[in-house]
Amino acid sequence: MRFLVTGAAGFIGSHLCDRLLAEGHEVIAVDNLLTGSMANLEHLEGRQGFRFILHDVCEPLTIEEPLDGVFHLASPASPKDYMEHPIETLDVGSLGTRRMLELARQHGAGFLLTSTSECYGDPLVHPQPESYWGNVNPVGPRSCYDEAKRFAEALTMAYRRVYGLRTSIARIFNTYGPRMKLDDGRVVPTFLDQALRGAPLTVYGDGSQTRSFCYVSDMIEGLWRLWLSGEPGPINLGNPVELSVLEFARKILELTGSSSPIQFLPLPQDDPRRRQPDITKARQLLGWEPRVSLEEGLRETIAWFRRLTAVKV
Ligand code: NAD
Ligand code: UDP
Repeated sequence: MRFLVTGAAGFIGSHLCDRLLAEGHEVIAVDNLLTGSMANLEHLEGRQGFRFILHDVCEPLTIEEPLDGVFHLASPASPKDYMEHPIETLDVGSLGTRRMLELARQHGAGFLLTSTSECYGDPLVHPQPESYWGNVNPVGPRSCYDEAKRFAEALTMAYRRVYGLRTSIARIFNTYGPRMKLDDGRVVPTFLDQALRGAPLTVYGDGSQTRSFCYVSDMIEGLWRLWLSGEPGPINLGNPVELSVLEFARKILELTGSSSPIQFLPLPQDDPRRRQPDITKARQLLGWEPRVSLEEGLRETIAWFRRLTAVKV
């Protein structure tokens, strides 16, 4: 099969390209490098069945070859990135999604959207099942991302209902691993970078807010199984092991052997207090659940960041 992957030069997109190629498929990778990097794809340069198109998916795109599927990942994902690029984020979630749905429709291809746990906002239901409609501030600093993704989900469902397009929606919870940018602002690369440099770990608020972290290989397996299943979703993909940000900081210090202090900084506006995926649907419909423990995943990620920075604690 031949797949188009948008956001292919990003963290998850580049791992997805690897997986699709490993499955024996062809990949057309599309990215405008807003938050991604060609370094994430350089190992695929010249590989048979792979080609890269530098392109903003909000602009029209014509693909001559037949396509079997469109994986639509393009969007800033780190709060730092989307708050720096709020209009681009709204554009890619709305117009970009519309263009990629049209492309899928023209090719008679399937379409998979990577949505987000941010659809639940600061959730009032815990853990979050897909049936929960969420608690999003529509005008707050995170709204450019949350509402763009909610719109993208609505548009995807409209294409399914109106045109009978084969669509799937994944709601991804915090995912980490090699190829995250050191400076992308998300908590995993930020704490690792700080720990490896011996700089203070910047915990926002009192660190009692929680997150649940999924290793990237588990996420890719979930996305691939979702594609194969043809389930419309939305389906939560994430690791249900939940911990507070302060516990997470301590875990990073332990695993890196760093003696960095912890520095408490103000909690950003609308930072969700708790987040944990209910993955009952993924277990039942996809036979999927995460396999990689937090310790294992972090060890892999730490090794990668150490090589990247060549900094030893
Ligand atoms: P990332 O920032 O590493 O990758 C996103 C990619 O999209 C980048 O390469 C960027 O350049 C590209 N992009 C952005 N706007 C574009 C445009 N208009 N045209 C073409 N390319 C564009 O982020 P990621 O963590 O790999 O996230 C990938 C997808 O998964 C995103 O849709 C994100 O919303 C979703 N997601 C990720 C997480 C996570 O924890 N990593 C959680 C929930 C949802
Ligand atoms: N966080 C933190 N220090 C940092 C970066 C993030 O304490 O330097 C916290 C942030 O406030 C949030 C959690 O870590 O509660 C996860 O943040 P991230 O930006 O990774 O993603 P989010 O889940 O908020 O989208």
